[in-house]
Amino acid sequence: MDKEALTAVLTDKFGFTSFKPGQAEVLEALTAGKNTLAMLPTGGGKSLIYQMMGNLREGLVVIVTPLLSLMQDQVARLNYAGESKVVALNSTLPQDARRTILRGLNQYKFLFVSPEMLGQTVVQSALRKVKINLLVVDEAHTIVSWGPDFRPDYLALPQVHQKLGQPQLLLLTATATPQMMSNITSPFGLVPEDWFIYRQSVDRPNIYLHTEQLDNEGQKRERLAELVRQLKGPGIVYFSSRKLATSMAEWLRETTGQRVAAYHAGLDTMSRYRIQQQFMLGQIDVITATSAFGMGIDKDDVRYVIHYHLSNDLANYLQEIGRAGRDGEQSAAILLYVPGDETMQLHMIDSTIPTREVIFGYLEKRFGTDEIGKDKANLLDFYTKQGLTADQIADMFDERRQQRQADLARLVGYAKSPSGLRAKLLTHFGDETTGA
Ligand code: ADP
Ligand code: MG
Repeated sequence: MDKEALTAVLTDKFGFTSFKPGQAEVLEALTAGKNTLAMLPTGGGKSLIYQMMGNLREGLVVIVTPLLSLMQDQVARLNYAGESKVVALNSTLPQDARRTILRGLNQYKFLFVSPEMLGQTVVQSALRKVKINLLVVDEAHTIVSWGPDFRPDYLALPQVHQKLGQPQLLLLTATATPQMMSNITSPFGLVPEDWFIYRQSVDRPNIYLHTEQLDNEGQKRERLAELVRQLKGPGIVYFSSRKLATSMAEWLRETTGQRVAAYHAGLDTMSRYRIQQQFMLGQIDVITATSAFGMGIDKDDVRYVIHYHLSNDLANYLQEIGRAGRDGEQSAAILLYVPGDETMQLHMIDSTIPTREVIFGYLEKRFGTDEIGKDKANLLDFYTKQGLTADQIADMFDERRQQRQADLARLVGYAKSPSGLRAKLLTHFGDETTGA
């Protein structure tokens, strides 16, 4: 379909008068039958693309989503827009509710599903009985950034795609380097000519980039309070631990007099939802958060994102600062760094990636699930089922560890640079349109 015809549908069904950059190009490719990987910035309107496809064609749009909260959010948005043929299949539903959904798949236009759920044979057989319009992977960078270390079902997506008879693919992300993009597409085993790749510049000119190096923790804390007092909110401050996010919320509340709340994955669903809503409604000025906060949060007037700690790597950093300034207004991304801050991230890498001792111990049955933890056991079971030997698995994880350390080192390099930040980010993401 050409842009004109697509625009007519856009206006008729969604009430928008024009496409955001990239939407039309991607839709043209999809309606022409191409598998598509689209990298559009946060807030760029990626969901609209699959929503349009649901309206343009027969069959079920299956959307693989990493988080339950994202899934619920998308369903709510579609319902709000008057779309009733939408359902989310997730682990919180009782068994018989899931069965009912699977039996009645025909009546839906959109199905949201986690990669773990999609990995189940019952789900796959139900899907084989219906016509799939499009298989969407939202936040597709998670295939390579989460897959290998703790969401192995992401790595099995190409096999599932095969089992479902290779429906047309739409992979959506806001952050991927050229290398990540090729790592995302190549496992699907499709020839390059079958793909349409759309990359938009990751540059967000309205976000002012700034780094500051401080001598010690005390200085960093004072600087944070100063920034929170001076900057106009609403704002988000990222920490790498739940404990600090919580204690700093209290401290910031006292020292700055602002309304501050902590958000992390250790809170129950209700509290998380409440805080998110209060933030959306402007009843909270500052969120002190772990990386659990943000993906899918649709608040467009966030004025600053401060990193009190480092993210994992530049891709995650970019994703996190991308939550600022979605309305296009002037915003700031500030990274505070004390030499040695990377130690915490290095520990995290060591604790998430199984060591040789753990790998051989588990596979030779000297350790059980209790000793190494359920997540690692799942991961190792997954790779074993894929036919890898203990040696191969160990080598793979060694490589993975080095990769993650190198990615972290690149972010530390960024944190230590006093200037030229935009060029650094853009170069890393293979962006040609270099800004100042
Ligand atoms: P992303 O997933 O890319 O971060 P979303 O799909 O959540 O972004 O969309 C962000 C916002 O943009 C939503 O509020 C959506 O309704 C809006 N939007 C999407 N497409 C358009 C358009 N063509 N014109 C105006 N607003 C749009
Ligand atoms: Mg999105």
